[in-house]
Amino acid sequence: MKRRILTGVISLLVVFTVTAFALSAVVVRSVAGDQLLKQLEAQADSLAHQLLNRDEAQALEGLVTSSRVTLVDTDGEVLFDNWTSEEMDNHNDRPEILEARKNGHGKAVRFSKTKNSTMMYAARLLPGGKVLRVAAPEQIANSVVSGVLPYMIGGLIVILGFVIILSNSWTRSLLKPILTIDVERPEEAVTYDEILPLIKKIDQQNKKTQSQMEALEARRMELNALLDGMHEGFIALGTREEIILINPSACEILGVREEQARGRSLMEINRSPSVLSLLDNLRKKGMSDSVMELNGRFYLLFANRIESGRGAVVLISDQTYKIEAEAMRKQFTANVSHELRTPLTTICGYAEMLEKGMVKQEDVGQFYRLILRESSRMLTLVEDILRLSRLDEGSMAAQREAINLNRVAGSIAESLQLAADEKNVTLNYEGQDTWVFGVTTMLEELCSNLIDNAIKYNVDRGRVDVKVTNGEQAILTVSDTGIGIEPEHHDRVFERFYRTDKSRSKRTGGTGLGLSIVKHAAEFHKAKINLLSKPGKGTTITVIFPLYQEED
Ligand code: ADP
Repeated sequence: MKRRILTGVISLLVVFTVTAFALSAVVVRSVAGDQLLKQLEAQADSLAHQLLNRDEAQALEGLVTSSRVTLVDTDGEVLFDNWTSEEMDNHNDRPEILEARKNGHGKAVRFSKTKNSTMMYAARLLPGGKVLRVAAPEQIANSVVSGVLPYMIGGLIVILGFVIILSNSWTRSLLKPILTIDVERPEEAVTYDEILPLIKKIDQQNKKTQSQMEALEARRMELNALLDGMHEGFIALGTREEIILINPSACEILGVREEQARGRSLMEINRSPSVLSLLDNLRKKGMSDSVMELNGRFYLLFANRIESGRGAVVLISDQTYKIEAEAMRKQFTANVSHELRTPLTTICGYAEMLEKGMVKQEDVGQFYRLILRESSRMLTLVEDILRLSRLDEGSMAAQREAINLNRVAGSIAESLQLAADEKNVTLNYEGQDTWVFGVTTMLEELCSNLIDNAIKYNVDRGRVDVKVTNGEQAILTVSDTGIGIEPEHHDRVFERFYRTDKSRSKRTGGTGLGLSIVKHAAEFHKAKINLLSKPGKGTTITVIFPLYQEED
């Protein structure tokens, strides 16, 4: 823009300056011509005066002048000419001569055939009728112009130099307010009224763009917060199946950093058959799913193409819990069937023998006792299963209330005193009022199973100490001096149907569900369980509950 304005201004000024120069040359030339003509007239007047009362031709003979002086007789004959001695033609037809004869004086500028150049003439009518003519070549006037021409050209060059410098600085100062407009803050620009509408438009546009950018940024942040907070992995794929977006959960699952993953294909990140088949089916059908096992966990991959081939999204959800729960459910059903089958087989066997009269009369009582024992074992098992399924349903949450753990544990210890006495085990209870937020029946089951185990797996003249204390938390401790648990079983005794010694557990009437009921009840009350046990020395199980707070 600056160059265009500058070129335009300079060209215009150069044209004007050169034209002015040419005009000046013409004017100078014309003034010089006029001046020369006036000089010739003055010389003609002066000579005419000198020739008064004298013989003109004779008087002119001694004249010294650079001008051409001609004396023309009344009939047009040239009586004298200081530039030529040759015979000359009649001069009465010359315009300046004709004019002088008419008006007393005459002048002309014309081509002279005699001198073969343009001449200037001034003529005077002398008293006797002759005409005196003074002439000079017009070239003299031209020489005046050529004399001043170098100065004029010099002046022209200086003027053009100034014109260029001034145009440059003028253009710069003219454009400065426009060039220095800060498009971010156009309203602050000090500039011309003519471009104010443009500046206002830029300002409006800026504000619009700004608010659009802010809205976009807010949406981006919302989306990021959503993706970052998602438990599921989320991956957006580009047209070449390259990763264009990946959330932290997906990074964690696939074991990559975001910057490593971006731009790479999903296949490069994970080459498992599940991913390969997922992408293969995605290409063929536009959507697909597959299950991937990674680091001992199971993930469901779900891919869907977006906008007919312009990329795809992949969702990765952790299904381990679901799959494990399903496996556990199957295992549980198998265990229950197995656990029920054993006593039922025994009962059926004994009943059949009784029915067929295969049992001696004196043994009949013993057989009935065995049937009764197996039936009550089945009953306990069914009750335990029912308890567990109630816990699994989570339907007890609504029955929560503030409960004094001291009272619950104390009354259970009291109810088990007989069982302790039968096993010749000393049962001690000590406790302080400690409030927890929970469900009484569940806490009773928890205490009952722990104290019952402590008695069951104790030794003759052993001891069981039950304590309820509080501080920052509510603590139930059940410790015994019993047979203890081998360290390798510590992690597993809380599993359903897990027993360290199956035959012993059966002898003692255990179902293998007691500690899993304890674990469930503890989890329900947000309590932690600690197990300390040494084979042959005894076991201490501590359950740590959060204390009841009014706002619970
Ligand atoms: P069970 O009905 O067989 O007692 P539990 O789930 O209550 O089932 O206990 C699981 C296993 O843990 C028991 O079979 C037993 O071997 C062991 N166990 C539980 N409590 C004690 C304890 N206080 N002392 C020693 N072993 C224990």
